Amino acid sequence: AAPLDVAAIRAQFPILNQQVRGKPLVYLDNAASGQKPEAVITAITDCYRGYYSNIHRGVHALSERSTTAFEEARERVRSFLNAASAREIVFLRGTTEAINLVAHSFLRPRLAAGDEILVTEMEHHSNIVPWQLVAAEKGARVVAAPITDVGELDLDAFERLLGPRTRLVAVAHVSNVLGTVNPVARIVALARARGIPVLVDGAQGAPHLGVDVQALGCDFYAFSAHKVYGPSGVGALWGKAEHLAAMPPYQGGGGMIRRVSFAGTTFADPPERFEAGTPDIAGVIGFGAALEWTRGIGLDAIAAHEEALTAYAMARLAEIPGLRLIGTAADKAGVVSFVLGHVHPHDIGTVLDREGVAVRVGHHCAQPLMDRYGVPATARASFAVYNTHAEIDALVAALWKVKEWFD
Ligand code: PMP
Repeated sequence: AAPLDVAAIRAQFPILNQQVRGKPLVYLDNAASGQKPEAVITAITDCYRGYYSNIHRGVHALSERSTTAFEEARERVRSFLNAASAREIVFLRGTTEAINLVAHSFLRPRLAAGDEILVTEMEHHSNIVPWQLVAAEKGARVVAAPITDVGELDLDAFERLLGPRTRLVAVAHVSNVLGTVNPVARIVALARARGIPVLVDGAQGAPHLGVDVQALGCDFYAFSAHKVYGPSGVGALWGKAEHLAAMPPYQGGGGMIRRVSFAGTTFADPPERFEAGTPDIAGVIGFGAALEWTRGIGLDAIAAHEEALTAYAMARLAEIPGLRLIGTAADKAGVVSFVLGHVHPHDIGTVLDREGVAVRVGHHCAQPLMDRYGVPATARASFAVYNTHAEIDALVAALWKVKEWFD
């Protein structure tokens, strides 16, 4: 891919052009949430200013326009994931709600006492807790495949843990703490050989990698708009048509029914069956605009840019005495975690903030992974299409200040 014109890209993100604490903003908290380009902001305001209305059932002109734009967004998600059909795309609040939907509607009816759900030690809480909730109800349990010290999934151990009681594999495409890119196609091949379905938590995969759900071979793929330059509060679940068709509703309400009577109710086909109530209409439209914008820049170019930033950051951070990188997998996307001597990550975050550098500090909703590395928390810098090498230099300079302050 041709190198990106990062200055031209930055100019499309109004929020980046500001000072915080009297310093130019250096936004390196993209794994938590990304910023939004003008194209996305405009798509949302155009909807509210020009044609907003509730969707579906309306016969009037605005409702038709809103419905068309909403369904166009569904087609954009389909195309972004290379799914076979837009009917396989369910709009939800985000990755978390998507995983909860699969836990309740897909897994719960198939789960019996003694069954297992296989995850990995690097999962986000939203790819652990929903499984624990249904497991507790059914007397099943969540099993975690170990990772190596560099932060790669131990595939041999993973394969050994795929047992006769494994009912589902749930794995992150990319770790939000380590940046590790998991070998999803291989994981799927191992699981499918045993007839075990696989859910991929794509919250960090979708922003950094081109996703092709048919090539990955998984059964479900969940991601959030807000990490792919779209609005917060919306996301999508892709599920294979045959799974969605067999799944009972998750929530009841308007929009998900075929016919309601007090004698009994029948339900709409997917995806509407899983979209009870009025959705975030403008948000979904903004989501579609974000995917279109991302595609316009090019996922390959974005991935190459972020890979270069990640490699540069790893090299520069390694120059700082006492800094320990957490997560040094060979295949890494856009996320760098570290601890610095005895300095608490919250203190790192506070000093960096005074220098205008926004990073995330804490357990990153991955407490089992913190336990695995024997740390209570890390500092995490995460990159997006608009970040620059100069911003990494600013991060490194600020970290030297942290050292001065605390040594
Ligand atoms: N999984 C991973 C790997 C994540 O990074 C996140 C967001 N931090 C989530 C799941 C949850 O996404 P959301 O909060 O948008 O539902």
